[in-house]
Amino acid sequence: MKSIEQYIRQMPKVELHVHLEGSVQPKTLLKLAERHHISLPAVTVEGIREWYTFRDFAHFVEIYMTISSCLRTVDDIELIAREFLLGQAEQNILHSEVTFTPYNQWVNCGLGFHEQLDAVNRAREWGEKELGIRMGMIIDIPRERAPEAGEQVSTWVIDRFGDGVVALGLGGPEQGNPPEKFRNAFNRMRDNGIPCVLHAGETDGPSSIWNAIEVAGPARIGHGVRAVEDPKLVEYLHRTQLPLEVCPTSNICLGVFPSLAEHCLPQLLDLGLRVSINSDDPPMFNTTLADEYLACAITYGWDKATLRELTKSAVDMLLLPSSEKLGLRKRFQEEFAASEPL
Ligand SMILES: [Zn+2]
Repeated sequence: MKSIEQYIRQMPKVELHVHLEGSVQPKTLLKLAERHHISLPAVTVEGIREWYTFRDFAHFVEIYMTISSCLRTVDDIELIAREFLLGQAEQNILHSEVTFTPYNQWVNCGLGFHEQLDAVNRAREWGEKELGIRMGMIIDIPRERAPEAGEQVSTWVIDRFGDGVVALGLGGPEQGNPPEKFRNAFNRMRDNGIPCVLHAGETDGPSSIWNAIEVAGPARIGHGVRAVEDPKLVEYLHRTQLPLEVCPTSNICLGVFPSLAEHCLPQLLDLGLRVSINSDDPPMFNTTLADEYLACAITYGWDKATLRELTKSAVDMLLLPSSEKLGLRKRFQEEFAASEPL
């Protein structure tokens, strides 16, 4: 009989909430900094790992911006995308929808969006051919930027939707940067039939989720865990089955919940809401998607059937055409059938 840990590591998975720049490993960051003669707060993998260790949201943004500042060429983008896919393949994550913020690199060093996406697409093709896994990109607006960022990013998304781009996202510091700031960008998505995925209800309360719903009519909500504070919102999420992308360890690191035992995830499931499990920015929170499933299984006593249901339900939340989703569902069934029965 396989241990629950072995089972989790081998079971097929999908990931819906993970950031490309937030997945850069310390040794890669050192390599990139050396390549571009950028000085970092540390010069060893251990030092970077220590600096990566989450302190507060401001520190988190500082790390994120440092990573972005080290991404200066298309080769850098292709490198991090390939390494990301390798990490996903190691965990048997068959499909990922990955948030990517090319706007930062464009502002930092004028690296064009189309070149950045071409580099990502080269990595995507390689991942599909060599690793047998796929990813789609959610191109997000960094919400701390001026409203013009919304105009720029939405134009990019419209130009390349379907060519590796699956949605427009909204990320960055939630407080003080409501989605209304970028209303026009979301209206453009509505007009073009392009899905939106917004971070909301993480560091800000239920009103942020209501705003995201009103402004963008999102396909999914990034985090959304603070919905539990508003019974009306819980009722709405239950009725519409609007999916929430829950990132347990990220929430604990950011102080949204004091511990996994006190996290609202079991409550969300009991309330019949549609949730998926995700890693957000894995090296920064010292986690992986497999680690997230394992920590939850141990803390909440999830059995293998629960784990299978959660992963299958996450497949249904992917922004894929139904034919592709059907193919993936079939692959999941086959892999589950090949693994040990309960
Ligand atoms: Zn996120």
